[in-house]
Amino acid sequence: MALLQIAEPGQSADPHQHKHAVGIDLGTTNSLVAVMRSATATALPDEQNRVSLPSVVRYLENGEIVVGYDAKQQAQLDPLNTLVSIKRCMGRGLEDVKDMPYEFEDSQEGMVQIKTVQGNKSPVEVSAQILKVLAKRAELSVGGKLDGVVITVPAYFDEAQRQATKDAAKVAGLHVLRLINEPTAAAIAYGLQSQHTGHIAVYDLGGGTFDVSVLNLNAGVFEVLSTGGDTALGGDDFDLALVEYFKKKANIGEKLTPSERRHLLTEACRVKEALGFEKKVLARFSTTQGSWQGHVSLEEFNELILPLVVKTIRTIKRVIKDSGLSKDQIDQIVMVGGSTRTKLVREKVSEFFEKDVLTSINPDEVVALGAAKQADLLVGNASSDELLLLDVCPLSLGIETMGGLVEKIVNRNTTIPVARAQEFTTFKDGQTAMAVHVVQGERDMVSDCRSLARFELRGIPPMAAGAAKIKVTYQIDADGILTVSAVESISGISSEITVKPSFGLDDDTVIQMLQDSQSFADEDKDARQLAETRVEAERVIEAISAALKKDGKALLNEEEFNNLDLTVAELKMVLYKQDEKTIRQKMDQLTHDSDEFAQRRMNAGVKAVLTGKSVNEI
Ligand code: ADP
Ligand code: MG
Repeated sequence: MALLQIAEPGQSADPHQHKHAVGIDLGTTNSLVAVMRSATATALPDEQNRVSLPSVVRYLENGEIVVGYDAKQQAQLDPLNTLVSIKRCMGRGLEDVKDMPYEFEDSQEGMVQIKTVQGNKSPVEVSAQILKVLAKRAELSVGGKLDGVVITVPAYFDEAQRQATKDAAKVAGLHVLRLINEPTAAAIAYGLQSQHTGHIAVYDLGGGTFDVSVLNLNAGVFEVLSTGGDTALGGDDFDLALVEYFKKKANIGEKLTPSERRHLLTEACRVKEALGFEKKVLARFSTTQGSWQGHVSLEEFNELILPLVVKTIRTIKRVIKDSGLSKDQIDQIVMVGGSTRTKLVREKVSEFFEKDVLTSINPDEVVALGAAKQADLLVGNASSDELLLLDVCPLSLGIETMGGLVEKIVNRNTTIPVARAQEFTTFKDGQTAMAVHVVQGERDMVSDCRSLARFELRGIPPMAAGAAKIKVTYQIDADGILTVSAVESISGISSEITVKPSFGLDDDTVIQMLQDSQSFADEDKDARQLAETRVEAERVIEAISAALKKDGKALLNEEEFNNLDLTVAELKMVLYKQDEKTIRQKMDQLTHDSDEFAQRRMNAGVKAVLTGKSVNEI
């Protein structure tokens, strides 16, 4: 038995409850978590108001695990059990991580394990520790469990590295809505997707790594055209260059102790950051090998780091070439990573492109902020006007209704994920089952669409036709998986099915289906009208036959009864003619002829009610 629609099309399912979703930048040096608050993405701070969490995990002999700033401070003390830059090991084998200072062991899964006092640890477990700390921070802030997270990964990450990142989230007990590329997240943070088309270069200079990507934006969807970089170049190298400068000034040779070296590095980092807003900065340090106090000017610092910055520009040139574009085709340049605060970096990149570069969003946070926006959208919090066009369903998804007609539930080009619901009811008195037929396409008749799935909702309690309320929900998740569910609201019985609408659907088929929907538009309109009139006529037949059976003999004389019975039979006969007008005429005649009968039934009904009650009650 098919369905009748009783609610307006296009109504959304229950207004969503606000869900808790966050974006996480799982960085090599630092990690962050951000959330959408009153339509703005905000990075979440720890109790000491620091938003960055150093991506450092220390395993202690007593079983304790320390993550973040404290672990970073203890790195010198216990280098083999304090794991930094673990991101470099994700999804990697022994061959790939030879240069790292840990004791590795190969594992059968192909990913290295790191020997610690707490036994062998996989990079997945270590990353999970960082994610756990960020998740806890977020849960405290949003006041509840997280429904989902978006985690960013470098654009060049391969499948193994992405899978390892997903596994880390699983170990941390998090539900990953999606992994997105770091450069894409940065572009989203700047809202660039709203420009619909363009070419974007993302320049990401972090602590120890440099990445540059060229993105193509088309219809709001980002695609990575090319990537490149240097896994051994970052802001830490600026610090090292300054340390060399200090050593020269103080006539220090190579004989510094590790803690003295750390002391010089810390001072170098302070001076570097201060030169972001001052022309010259006073540096001072003392070691057993020598001391120095003096001003470092911006010019001197720039001279020290110039070769490093020039190196990044050479990489940009190569990556642009790989993208098949020329430099003047790049519309926007997004600056990402703490080291892009360095003045010379901004100047040189802007000079190269002969354009202003985007720096207004905090470069440490921009990736996490974009991820938070994306998470909010994927979990279904964003309202439709702030939707980012990411994935759309190429063809409408609908349901078969009475008369072989299609009722569209999700229109084509709707951004996914999406959930839409419509209410239907039963057609016959006592109907206990309903067939749900899921179809795809733009045409009005089921026979012209692609059939995706069928299922039945059984066990509807017998009720009068039209009394049952069956809510059918179409939900498409971020991966394009469609779940159709049907729930009868009085009894609560439900049934559902899951399908992948894109399965077996190539681009040519989609184009053909769209063309057909245009060229058959008029025919479809006629077919729809015919089918709708048929459904209406069937309902009239159904209702009058039932009434005749029940009260016909009591309320009509023999002639009246036979006349009405005959008209019903005549309507049944024309019902399957391809002629809408004839069906309508017969139906109109039947409703007209049955007027008197309906009147008598109403009067009899009122009388029945009246006789059932005492005089006082009236
Ligand atoms: P990653 O992506 O590798 O985790 P980040 O984006 O957090 O790294 O960048 C960390 C680097 O940014 C460090 O080398 C740090 O010294 C540098 N940095 C942070 N603030 C500034 C600043 N104001 N000026 C210059 N460099 C900075
Ligand atoms: Mg980063």
